[in-house]
Amino acid sequence: MIDITINGKKIRTEEGRSILDVANELGVNIPTLCHHPHLKAGYGSCRICAVEITGVKRLLPACVTQVANNMEIFTDSKSVRKARKLLIELLLLHHPCDCLTCDKSGECILQNLAYEYEVETNTYSRFQGHKREFTIDLKSPVIERNLYRCITCGRCVRVCDEVRGVGAIDYVRRGFDTEVNTPQGMKLRCEFCGSCIAMCPVGALTSKSFKYKARFWELKKVPTTCAYCGTGCQLELNVKDNVIYRVTTNDNAGINEGHLCIRGRYGFDFVQHESRLKEPLMRKGDKLVSATWDEVLIKSAKEIERIKEQYGVQSIAGIGSVRTTNEDNYVFQKFFRAVVGTNNVDTVAHYYHLPVIKSMQKSFGVSAATNSIEELLGAKVIVVIGLDVAELNPIVGVKIRRAQRYLGAKLIVVSPKNDKLVRFSQKYDGTWVKLKPGTEGILLAGICNYLIKENKINLDFIKAHTIGYENFVKSVSAWTPEKVKEITGIKDTDLKEIAEAYVGTNKGMIVFGNELSMGINGENNVLAINNLALLTGNIGRESAGVMPVTEYSNLQGAYDMGVEPKLLPGYREVSISQEKTKFKKAWNATLPEESGLTLPEIINAIQEGKIKALYIMGDNLVLPYLKRRHKEALDMLELIIVQDIYRTESADLATMVFPAASFAEKNGTFTNTDRRIQRINQAINRVGCSRPDWEIISALSAEMGYSMNFNNESDVMAEISSLVQIYKEVNFEELNKKAVQWPVDIKSGTKFLFKDGFPPDSGKFCDLIFDVSVLSKKDKTEYSHDLMVGGTLCHSGTGTMSHRSSDISLIADKVFLKISYADARKLGVKENDEIVLTTPFDSIRLPINIVSEMQEGYVFLPFYFVVNTNLLGNFLELNNKGKGMNFSELCPVNLNRETKEESDS
Ligand code: SF4
Repeated sequence: MIDITINGKKIRTEEGRSILDVANELGVNIPTLCHHPHLKAGYGSCRICAVEITGVKRLLPACVTQVANNMEIFTDSKSVRKARKLLIELLLLHHPCDCLTCDKSGECILQNLAYEYEVETNTYSRFQGHKREFTIDLKSPVIERNLYRCITCGRCVRVCDEVRGVGAIDYVRRGFDTEVNTPQGMKLRCEFCGSCIAMCPVGALTSKSFKYKARFWELKKVPTTCAYCGTGCQLELNVKDNVIYRVTTNDNAGINEGHLCIRGRYGFDFVQHESRLKEPLMRKGDKLVSATWDEVLIKSAKEIERIKEQYGVQSIAGIGSVRTTNEDNYVFQKFFRAVVGTNNVDTVAHYYHLPVIKSMQKSFGVSAATNSIEELLGAKVIVVIGLDVAELNPIVGVKIRRAQRYLGAKLIVVSPKNDKLVRFSQKYDGTWVKLKPGTEGILLAGICNYLIKENKINLDFIKAHTIGYENFVKSVSAWTPEKVKEITGIKDTDLKEIAEAYVGTNKGMIVFGNELSMGINGENNVLAINNLALLTGNIGRESAGVMPVTEYSNLQGAYDMGVEPKLLPGYREVSISQEKTKFKKAWNATLPEESGLTLPEIINAIQEGKIKALYIMGDNLVLPYLKRRHKEALDMLELIIVQDIYRTESADLATMVFPAASFAEKNGTFTNTDRRIQRINQAINRVGCSRPDWEIISALSAEMGYSMNFNNESDVMAEISSLVQIYKEVNFEELNKKAVQWPVDIKSGTKFLFKDGFPPDSGKFCDLIFDVSVLSKKDKTEYSHDLMVGGTLCHSGTGTMSHRSSDISLIADKVFLKISYADARKLGVKENDEIVLTTPFDSIRLPINIVSEMQEGYVFLPFYFVVNTNLLGNFLELNNKGKGMNFSELCPVNLNRETKEESDS
């Protein structure tokens, strides 16, 4: 430790720290322009942080000067102020000083400094200088680049490279002519995260859609949680006159630390889109007509009672939502169990996330990620498998990139595509394991077998903490490197490399997603991950664990709240009567004895005439990829209630339509992918007559004679925390101060699970049984390629919300078929040429995008696009033995250059 003095105040501090850091910690303000706490320290370009040090002749920049023993520092002396004033004067010489119309006015650091240091604008300046010549760049669909205002602080260049790992922009030219542009004038390869705009201390980079919409001081900033993916980034909705005009961030809030992806930054206007449902609708003949809340609620209550009376309670079912809040989902399942009297509740996530819930429960007794997103920064080996994380959960991707590039983590990406993370990782010595699509579980089983055979497992951990090891050994013994190679295409040397890297650390994290958990092998794929973690002891410690990453904002919360036919809130099994006791007592209701039906079972039951009424909250059951089957089923129902923010295809078939409030019009909580319970806050008035989902259900319940007794969302959370052990002690007041990760106890959360061992009967090795028949079905004689589908950065899922964003639509306005260079050469096609893609069900003409990320023989289309066509027909249902969809079962396709008409004829 050393002693220093800042502005006459003596303090002790550590050696090696910058003067700026020490001063900031002390609350002493030193102005900066190029420095930002989230960028690498010591850039030292703007020099505005100059300070005076006794005994040193010239002023020194505080950001790059380290404190030394007995140093006497003055941060605001006369000479310091004079120097800063001169620097600002020189900056203003080339700055347009167009604050009257600049969107940054009021939050511009340069403007504030000029005012603070009493600097005249260039009109009255004592200096004269050349003006630089630029054109205001309007090429980007969403970002306006005004280089006249640029002070070349480099924050935008650095955030794009250092934090986002994209490097879309750089300095071009030198000296006076320096400008920020694309490297070597190349095409802009931007991910449109908006971090450059957020970082720009002046108005050189601004949002086009925000231009002239509001002055900074007119905006109310409402902190909330992003409504898109399960990463759960924290953001601020900027509101003026009840309109959301932009999204900003607080650098210190949430795991995203001020960063967002395109969806979070630009995708907010779905909230006030013209297609929002504004009033309740009721079916009259073949039309849906406007109705009052009283009319729809009374009629719905009567109809539910009639159907219950006529066909029994099991004839009614409900579909909850992975996008609405915990409070909404809790009240929804309570309504079905306590008021209707059935466990027939599920979500569409049954098709892609239930395998994760089940396998995590089987292995560890807990159905969620074992560790936190931020712990990726401490991991020494990170395996990303079955997930295009840079596209689907970009902020998780940002953490992984940082862990590899700056913190020494070895990154192994297991993916059939040379995707963004692969390309990034390879720059920094990462490993790409290029396997055949859908074979991830087999590779993992092979790794387990290799480690067992080589006796490289963590036997002490296995003996002390696990069960079922012996049987598990038998179940993987067949997966020799040769057999694995035959199915996955992975060479034994590569298999060994991953195995050795992962077993060689006690800080190994496996990050995975839907590509791996969907379909017939989904559950075993996840079990394979869990088994591998148990074999190596990579679990139960900080930065060692398994992390399923969720695609929707409250997917985790919907399961936590018991929107699942076999699980009560908090993962209590409905079949165990003592589990039901406290719910029965608290709800003052008789709970159903009979087990509930899953979504596919509900659809079957509808088709068998057993289910007559369906209540769908916050989702579209006429799922494009299961359109035929689900639509046929819905057509057979006597009562369909749809509660949503838009008039979906399901709503078109409904008997009653309830307009619901969006995330921006209500309060509540979402639970993200790492068990983090976070607040959403009302930012604008409810659109039309819409109401929060929980409030609608409570009103319907009251109509049926059961009062839920909730006055607001906080009351609902109070009941949740009193009944759900993992949400114990959670309340809005505390959450407003800080999000918390379940299991919650005495107001503190749990960063990583199993620190003190696994729950009873868990830490369990589970046998792995794969159905390999689904992995090699392509009829090579008839079809030349396999179609892969997946999420994209702009539009995840079916794109219901992102397609209603004007900025995102500007960026992603066209769909391309991605093909490999090798295939393009064989077909004799070039970029943007059109091609006819033919599946067993339909054909479609599309422009092509030739990319390095595709393997020969495979083509790629965005999921949202495919599911809105008939390209997959009923392929997903036909090929998965009724267990739901499986995108790893690739659809065989043909490609040719004929026109569609020619191919049809
Ligand atoms: Fe929203 Fe997910 Fe993007 Fe974060 S990463 S801004 S939560 S969509």
